[in-house]
Amino acid sequence: MSGNFIDLNKIALHEIGHHLGIPDDYGRWGSVMHTDFKPYYDKLGNYIRPILGPDDIENAQRLYGVRNVVGEPFRKS
Ligand SMILES: [Zn+2]
Repeated sequence: MSGNFIDLNKIALHEIGHHLGIPDDYGRWGSVMHTDFKPYYDKLGNYIRPILGPDDIENAQRLYGVRNVVGEPFRKS
């Protein structure tokens, strides 16, 4: 696929990031907070769904903390 398309999934993730308080990230490719909204395709032309990059996770954890592990193993008393 060619042309000037934008990836609505990327924009949705990006805007959710802003709602969480994460600013634009102009320097790091692979972050959903980068302002590149072009869709990515693999070698066969299949659409690659955007995912959170390590920077995105780190930024969210900096604001909200690291997720607690839920469901500790059952302990017999
Ligand atoms: Zn933005």
